[in-house]
Amino acid sequence: MSVIKVTNFQGVDMIESGFSWFGKPLLNVFCFYVDGILIDTGQHRMQKSIIKTLENKKINQILLTHHHEDHTGNAQILSSIHQAPIYANELSMPFITKGFPYRIRFYQWFHLGKIELIKNPLPYLEKFETKNICLEPIYTPGHCQDHYCFLERNKGWLFSGDLYIGNLQVMRNNDEDMTTMIESIIKMLEYDFDVLFCCHHPKITNGKKYLRYKLEYLQEFQQKAIHFYQQGYSVKEIMRKMNKKENWFFKVYTENDIGVDFMVKSALRKVKND
Ligand SMILES: [Zn+2]
Repeated sequence: MSVIKVTNFQGVDMIESGFSWFGKPLLNVFCFYVDGILIDTGQHRMQKSIIKTLENKKINQILLTHHHEDHTGNAQILSSIHQAPIYANELSMPFITKGFPYRIRFYQWFHLGKIELIKNPLPYLEKFETKNICLEPIYTPGHCQDHYCFLERNKGWLFSGDLYIGNLQVMRNNDEDMTTMIESIIKMLEYDFDVLFCCHHPKITNGKKYLRYKLEYLQEFQQKAIHFYQQGYSVKEIMRKMNKKENWFFKVYTENDIGVDFMVKSALRKVKND
């Protein structure tokens, strides 16, 4: 059963949606509405519910953290309905206006829906200010090249897009780079915030602590992988040494787009590039 649920924390509407043909949704996606600003727009498969949930809200601006389909899937339609401009960063522009530089796999289409190209998005402003809040875009690549977070310094909020997500056991074949991810998390931990408005697993208290856990998790993973690599082990052997088993159902289901091996390869890119 598909789900859509809205909770409010400190004046921010947290809109959670999960699509399913049967059983529980595979992935829940959040977008956030505060003071006339919508941050990310959810997956296309949940379009009707998301439109309905937002129908009585006054959306003045739509901000996108990055190009992925579960963040941009309803941007164009919401922009048309609410007559609101869409703001995206320069690196996202070609992907969201012309199409993604990689093939959308069956599992993405099946669970998240199609990609809807965006007409005339505007480049990010230096800051997005309303009467009550001020959102500052900060470049945080790693999850993908065009990823930004939005920081509200006074409130202590970080709209972190997909910077956090949690301690994932797998990674995608394209896009994700562990070293860059680690650098981006270190950069964000220099700021003060307590609420982590993550698009998949928000943490409404102790957000910074959770982001620090993620950093430690990635650093430990990377150090171990590099240690074994430098002893001459292959990716498969490194996985065995680290007690990581490939999830073959997942691997086949995603047409070799997601896997444990990609996470090891992403960790090793640091030394292989040097
Ligand atoms: Zn993403």
